[in-house]
Amino acid sequence: MKSRVSVVRCDSYAPELVQKAVEDSVNLLGGITNFIRPKSRVLLKPNLLMAIEPEQGITTHPEVVRSIARILKGIDCTVFVGDGPSVWDNQIRNVSEVYRRTGMTKVCQEEGLRPVYFDKKRMCQKFPLTSWLDHCDYLINLPKFKTHALTCLTGAIKNLFGLVWGTFKLELHKNYFHTEDFAKILVDIYAETRPALTIVDGISAIEGDGPATRGLLCFPKILVAGSDCVSVDSVLSRIMGIEPLDVPSTREAVLRGLGIADMAEVEILGERLDNLKIKPFSLPATSQKRKLPQPIINLAKKLIRYYPCMERNRCIRCSACIKICPKAAISMGKKGVLFDYSRCIACFCCHEVCLAAAIKIRKTIFTKIMGL
Ligand code: SF4
Ligand code: SF4
Repeated sequence: MKSRVSVVRCDSYAPELVQKAVEDSVNLLGGITNFIRPKSRVLLKPNLLMAIEPEQGITTHPEVVRSIARILKGIDCTVFVGDGPSVWDNQIRNVSEVYRRTGMTKVCQEEGLRPVYFDKKRMCQKFPLTSWLDHCDYLINLPKFKTHALTCLTGAIKNLFGLVWGTFKLELHKNYFHTEDFAKILVDIYAETRPALTIVDGISAIEGDGPATRGLLCFPKILVAGSDCVSVDSVLSRIMGIEPLDVPSTREAVLRGLGIADMAEVEILGERLDNLKIKPFSLPATSQKRKLPQPIINLAKKLIRYYPCMERNRCIRCSACIKICPKAAISMGKKGVLFDYSRCIACFCCHEVCLAAAIKIRKTIFTKIMGL
C-alpha cells in the first residue's frame, strides 16, 4: 500500500483558516481516530527552537498547536505540549521564556492544555529521551518547515531531536558531528518514538542558512501531514526543490526500512505539488558539499570546510553561543566572541542559537575555488 501524505494550502495564520486547514489535513488522511484513540493522553511536540515570536517563522505557530489540540479535545483527549529548546540548561525558567515568547503559554492557557518540561529522562538504547513519552499514549509531531546548515532540511525527523532529555543534545552533537553519523542518531530517535501523526507548519518557512535568524523568511502557505515521517520529509524535499535522498536522515531511514521516500510510492492527497508553484528554496551554504561523492569529500575534507564566523556589529554579548558549544570552542573577548577553530567541529549549534543573527557560515578559500 502507498504511503499517504496530505498537502493543504493555508494563506495565513488567521485562526479560522488554520483550523480549517488542519482539519482538512487530518480528514484527508482518514480523520483523527485513524491515528489517536479517544480519551488518550497526547504529547504535542512543536519546534520551539528559541525564545522568539512566531512571526519570525522559526518556531511552530501557536495557531497550528491550537487547531490540532481542539480536534483532540473533540475526542476527549488530554493534551500536553512540550519541547526541549536549545536554551535548555536545567533552568526551567529559560524554557518558560521560550514557551512565553513563542506563544505556547498563551495558547495553553486559552485551550486548557498542559505545558510540560523535558527535565526527567527515560533511556532508549543509546541516550536519554524525555520521560513524557512514557506518560503519554501518543506523540504528535508538529515541525516547522526550515532549511538546516547541518541536516539540510529540518522537518519531520529532525524535529524529534528535541525529545532528547536536557543537555544531552550537546553530547550527541559532540560525539556525532559528521552529518552521516548525526543522521543515524536522528533516525534512532525516530525509530524509538514513531509519532502517530506529523503535521508540518509550512505556512511560513525558513530557507537559506536556516534554521534560525540567519535564514530567510518565506511563505509556502502549506501544511504537510502524514504518519510516515520519511514520506513527509520527502514531500517537503520536493517542495524545496531537492531530491528526497539528498537529505541524510531520509537516506538513513530508507536504508533501515523505516519509511518510503520513493515518490512513486507516496500518494499525495489534497494539493498537487506542481500546482503549488512554490519557488525552489535557497539552500544552506553547507549543502553544496553534499553534491560531491563521499570519496572526494574524504580526500579533501581538510580543505573543503565551512566554519562559523561572527559579525561584531550584531553581537549583543548574550553568551548563548558559548553555553551551547559542545566543544567549548567559543570564548568572550573584548570585542565580542572568539572562535577556537582548532576545536570547532562545525556542528553550527552556535549559528542556530544566536538570536541576534551575529554568526554566519563562511567557507575556506579552497571551498570557494571548488565552487562549493
Ligand atoms: S554571537 Fe550571538 S549568541 Fe554569541 S554572544 Fe553574540 S549575540 Fe550572543
Ligand atoms: S564553534 Fe559553533 S560550530 Fe564550532 S563546535 Fe562550537 S557550536 Fe559547533
